Amino acid sequence: MKITANNPNRKSWLHVDENSDFPIQNIPFGVFLTRDDIITIGTRIGDYAIDLGALHQLGYFEGIPLTDDIFLQDTLNDFIADGRITWRLVRNRIADLFDENNETLKNDVSHRDDIIFKMDEIEMQLPVDIGDYTDFYSSKEHATNVGIMFRGKENALMPNWLHIPVGYHGRSSSIVVSGTPIHRPYGQTLPVGATEPVFGASQRIDMELETAFITTAANHLGESIPVDEAEEYIFGMVVFNDWSARDIQKWEYVPLGPFLGKSFASTISPWIVTMDALEPFRCESPKQEVKPLPYLQQKRSDNSYDIKLEAILETENGDRNLLSKSNFKYMYWTMAQQLAHQTVNGCNVRTGDMLGSGTISGPTKDSYGSMLELTWAGKNPITLKDGSTRVFFNDGDNVILHGYCKNDTIRIGFGECAGKIVHLKK
Ligand code: CA
Repeated sequence: MKITANNPNRKSWLHVDENSDFPIQNIPFGVFLTRDDIITIGTRIGDYAIDLGALHQLGYFEGIPLTDDIFLQDTLNDFIADGRITWRLVRNRIADLFDENNETLKNDVSHRDDIIFKMDEIEMQLPVDIGDYTDFYSSKEHATNVGIMFRGKENALMPNWLHIPVGYHGRSSSIVVSGTPIHRPYGQTLPVGATEPVFGASQRIDMELETAFITTAANHLGESIPVDEAEEYIFGMVVFNDWSARDIQKWEYVPLGPFLGKSFASTISPWIVTMDALEPFRCESPKQEVKPLPYLQQKRSDNSYDIKLEAILETENGDRNLLSKSNFKYMYWTMAQQLAHQTVNGCNVRTGDMLGSGTISGPTKDSYGSMLELTWAGKNPITLKDGSTRVFFNDGDNVILHGYCKNDTIRIGFGECAGKIVHLKK
């Protein structure tokens, strides 16, 4: 079925700013609270939020097999479970309804009042009930940088890294939507030179510039997903900040890996951008130096996406300091390989599971995806516009991640993935 929603020449009768992340070709999915305090599933065009529950009740999805309450829910899980054909039919229909050449809804003032909200009238919610969350470690530049800092240049990459999309199971209960305050965690740390740990607030709060993808029900327990089918089970992507308390992490991570240094919070952008919308931005992933085992060999080579990523630190005076510019296309392991690997042992992936990319660092110093790398473990503090310096983040710092794709005709983006650090309430 053709993705007519992606027609680059289409324009909407709703106003869209030139640099908006949300032209009519995007049509992401999210959940929001309306001005009447009603929770609904919606999409966004320009600076307008569109209530899909109301649109469906008024009959605009006629002919598409949807249950009556599919959009009148507080999560996207049931809609995601409906599968790719339904997602595509709904996006195509929304594109038609808001096309400048379609007068039906455009001329119905009463329906428009029920369906369309300004973004500042609504409140975005976490879009998915995330069952399981996995975080990978799939950027070779990031793994190499961290490896050099911890083990030296010769042993930077562990022997398994070029053979396995390394990952671990994270905590889903503390994944929050953009704008949620991030509490500085307390925990055990081992001060430099000390032999006994101390308890206190983390002094090393870091970001991890990542993306994540959300799955539909993919396999039953005991089955695996072939790598060349894996993309079929990916609904869409978000920008993702996998907050890390480096001092807590450093003391606790041997031998079982990250725990409390990661589980205090992770932030996602509120709109899930579908893989269909990202289709025009496919590109090749980096050549894999070691041929992976057959279950990880992917036939298609245009298996990555050109998604520009940036991290900004907004200080309390409102200054915005650019920390890093990276790109999803630097990822060594693809999302299909990650999903094939996740399920190769028969582990079942369910609707609403979230799989994080791992910190995405590029080849240059200005493209590193964490403060750990940008300051090289604190050796090179960053000077901000107001003259202050940072090695890690202070209370009051608002960390804003962006992701967007851009070609000659369209820009498709994710909006903001932001979190402000506040002191933990005790
Ligand atoms: Ca991570």
